[in-house]
Amino acid sequence: MAPTFTQITLAERPKEHILPTTFARKTVPLASLKPGQGEVLVKLHYLSLDPAMRGWLRDQRSYMPPVGIGEVMRGQAVAEVVEAGPGSKFTKGDIVDGPFGWAEYGVFPDKIASKINAPPGVDVLDFLGPMGGTGMTAYFGLLDVGKVKAGEKLVVSGAAGATGSMVCQFGKKRGAKVYAIAGSQAKCDWLENDLGVDKAFNYKSPTFHADFKKTVGFLDVYFDNVGGELLDFMLSRLNLRARIVLCGAISDYNKAKPSGLTGYMTLIAQRAKIEGFLVFDYASRYPEAQKDIATWLRDGSLKRRFHVVKGLQNAPEALNLLFNGGNTGKLVVQVADTPAKL
Ligand code: NAP
Repeated sequence: MAPTFTQITLAERPKEHILPTTFARKTVPLASLKPGQGEVLVKLHYLSLDPAMRGWLRDQRSYMPPVGIGEVMRGQAVAEVVEAGPGSKFTKGDIVDGPFGWAEYGVFPDKIASKINAPPGVDVLDFLGPMGGTGMTAYFGLLDVGKVKAGEKLVVSGAAGATGSMVCQFGKKRGAKVYAIAGSQAKCDWLENDLGVDKAFNYKSPTFHADFKKTVGFLDVYFDNVGGELLDFMLSRLNLRARIVLCGAISDYNKAKPSGLTGYMTLIAQRAKIEGFLVFDYASRYPEAQKDIATWLRDGSLKRRFHVVKGLQNAPEALNLLFNGGNTGKLVVQVADTPAKL
């Protein structure tokens, strides 16, 4: 039988939660892929799963167009070049990253792929974690938008996730007092015992609000990955000239209608700031962050954790782990059966 590969396409737009009918699985002949001039044929090894993917399923104005019905689902991945077309700048065996999508193989123009040269102490998979979008989001969100300073109180929601776990550690490196918020005791233990935050709170605990008020009091920087009720609560905990870094609002992504904020008037009284940002705007400065992050990975002072789900066919179900808190650290799908030594 002629070799085939799997693609996952968008079948229908979810109204709220992602359902088994949201995506469709397609089997495609491998022979249909042939790189042309300045193109490469790549084999995916790891695919990043991100909360932003839920936004790309929504047919509404955003920072990029939605994924179309019938199109291969969008996603960042690490892949191996298996064939370089005429005039391509890549060669067979190169390891690259790029927005290759939810497919085991694909043909792409050179310009959307970047060759990965992992420095010593850095793994190729780190380019979907601390050295990739996750690390860049945490680094620039905290330092450029949050402008956190030594001695300040930094509060991080979604703290045991990919971005949050980086923000917590970058905050400690800056000399901030770091308070983490996550959804289970196991996550809080990891944050306190392994990542070294000053205190972690389980937001699902019935005593969360009282515990937080007693221990933290008021905050200087709130790095928000969650939005909704938690953001509303933090609006009531602002110090003078506090900064809220609006990174994400995952608690609202699956809702047909997002919950509104009621506590925003404290922004006036405390002369505080709330600012959204997109990591892509910092693309020209990524090398600056990657230099620091590679140093910290090499000297072992920055910890990272990956939650690896095997098999591209499991990507649709795995995406829900981000919304039910099933992941700790960066969620990725191992696409290749036996990933080559990358
Ligand atoms: P992640 O934190 O690894 O995974 C999401 C986590 O969110 C889950 O593990 C879950 O942990 C928590 N969560 C889910 N629903 C929640 C709810 N209702 N209330 C509280 N916590 C909830 O994902 P990530 O990739 O690092 O992304 C984190 C955030 O950053 C997302 O909002 C994402 O959209 C945003 N982001 C923004 C940018 C940007 O450029 N602005 C770039 C990348 C990511 P618990 O067990 O703790 O609930």
